[in-house]
Amino acid sequence: MSVRPRARPTPPALEDEARCWSCGRAASTAAQRADLATTWLVPGAQGPPVDRSFCRGCAPGGAVDEIICVRCGDGPLLAGELTAMDLEVTAAVDAWLAAAGWRLAGPVCPGCATEVTR
Ligand SMILES: [Zn+2]
Ligand SMILES: [Zn+2]
Repeated sequence: MSVRPRARPTPPALEDEARCWSCGRAASTAAQRADLATTWLVPGAQGPPVDRSFCRGCAPGGAVDEIICVRCGDGPLLAGELTAMDLEVTAAVDAWLAAAGWRLAGPVCPGCATEVTR
């Protein structure tokens, strides 16, 4: 029973033990770890998008879009309604990115943004 801290978006972190958010399986191979290292932004239950990791089998189907850092080419995938890119969705995604440390001009991911400002 762990108490979930109230969702404050965190930048995609290097976690020792990545687990699929959907089935809870941990990665045991490099390929599975790579799958789980992918950040998915999915529509939140009530409003702001949330970041999740999925194994290959649980990855959201349907339309997928992605945010790509102009420097390293890395970034979260967008699933479901977040691919709609209407004004409201775009604003919500931008808010998540900004909170996670992204520079929206570019965009530039938190890792590269640190480098840029150094
Ligand atoms: Zn899974
Ligand atoms: Zn980057």
